[in-house]
Amino acid sequence: MGSMSAEPLKVLIVGAGFGGLTAAIECRKKGFDVILFEGNKSRRQLGDIISFGSNSGRIFRSWPGVEEKLDPICHHSDGLDFRTYDDEFLCRQTWGAEADWGKRFNGHRGEIHEVCWNHAIEVGVDIRLGCKVQEYFETETEAGVVVNDERIVGDVVLAGDGVRSLARTIVLGFEDKPKSSGYAVYRAWMPTDGLKKNPSTAWLANPEKDLHVGWLGPDVHFLVATLQKGTACSWVLTHKDEADVEESWSAPGYVDEAIKAIPDWAPICHDIIRATPEGALVDWKLVFRDPLPTWISPKRRIALIGDAAHPFLPTSIQGASQSMEDGVTAAVCLELAGKENVPEAIRAYEKIRYPRVLATQRTGVTNRDAWHKADFDYVRKNPESVKLPRMDWVLNFDCETHAYDVYNETVESLRADPNWKPDTTL
Ligand SMILES: Cc1cc2nc3c(=O)[nH]c(=O)nc-3n(C[C@H](O)[C@H](O)[C@H](O)COP(=O)(O)OP(=O)(O)OC[C@H]3O[C@@H](n4cnc5c(N)ncnc54)[C@H](O)[C@@H]3O)c2cc1C
Repeated sequence: MGSMSAEPLKVLIVGAGFGGLTAAIECRKKGFDVILFEGNKSRRQLGDIISFGSNSGRIFRSWPGVEEKLDPICHHSDGLDFRTYDDEFLCRQTWGAEADWGKRFNGHRGEIHEVCWNHAIEVGVDIRLGCKVQEYFETETEAGVVVNDERIVGDVVLAGDGVRSLARTIVLGFEDKPKSSGYAVYRAWMPTDGLKKNPSTAWLANPEKDLHVGWLGPDVHFLVATLQKGTACSWVLTHKDEADVEESWSAPGYVDEAIKAIPDWAPICHDIIRATPEGALVDWKLVFRDPLPTWISPKRRIALIGDAAHPFLPTSIQGASQSMEDGVTAAVCLELAGKENVPEAIRAYEKIRYPRVLATQRTGVTNRDAWHKADFDYVRKNPESVKLPRMDWVLNFDCETHAYDVYNETVESLRADPNWKPDTTL
């Protein structure tokens, strides 16, 4: 295997989220020509706290200089304290047992994104801003995009264009629709000035130590993290919400509304929410999509990566990590297949990634239900029952080594079974 052609593979990547950036960096590392198209006119990443498990942490650490830039901006608590909605201490979950699995990175989405973006530029990714892809196309021998009315052609397109993916329509032949998950999340990122003014919350802004506390109640959970020497605080409040299915990271949230979602909760929870400055709160409706029947186009030259292929519930804590694993795996498959065998690489990418992603998506539902549907009499008697399951098969995983290990057998199995389709049962 491997390319006999002197011309490097030309990879077009759509979307500069964590999926697209990772794919672009990894493809550059393998010597491919890479163009990354981003619809936004400037590097702009809305959002607040984002978590990368040790499975994607090892990808960051493989990029020279990146870990050193992430460390000062990320959260470094040694445990998560669980309390009940009426502020009774339940238990502390520590991460020592998984120290050998690698390092986690949790921090502000925009700040972590900027570090990755700069690294992509350093390794020579041609990032084109203000390039919203209008159309995707493919033939037996090439694939491309239409951007600003110009047709740009490559050997393959990796579409990391997010939850509202246009590429998904081409891959599927129909437009899939989001469904309400029945939940929404109030999310805030703020300075700790307001917390410091109130004796009940001042302890959270500890310059010596990052803190992480989760208050749990029936159908609601409230997670608070402090970081950056006690100067920054992020909180998320996941609650029942059947209102609508419009997903937006920019929909404003209101302090009074957030407090109404937890009327009988301990005063400290209300105090933290009240310390949130206007404009720092968003109300994000969580939508759900059924697993797609496939992530790859009919001629096997366009592949969906990241949220375009598989949106995650936040309770899996794996959405961004899995999008990065997609990018790494796609790059390995393309390298091993070479320019002449792109469709084989794209099929192998799907077959290697699909079952792992699906199994990880399931954990989003099971984690959420474990907290929200908990019987609190049982929880008080069995406080350890609220600890997050930490699965080594998710977190202690090196997607790059795995792709190199299984590529040949995957291709052989697909040659033997040309009609293979993913099992989509969630
Ligand atoms: C605005 C926003 C904020 C988020 N904030 C958080 C957060 O705070 N915490 C958290 O855990 N998760 C957050 N997420 C989810 C998380 O970032 C993703 O699950 C994960 O990183 C997957 O990334 P992705 O690269 O697949 O997609 P995305 O991060 O959605 O990136 C997709 C990119 O494609 C671009 N794009 C879309 N269509 C086109 C087109 N036609 N042409 C060119 N470019 C296009 C978009 O502008 C975007 O930059 C957020 C997602 C979004 C969209």
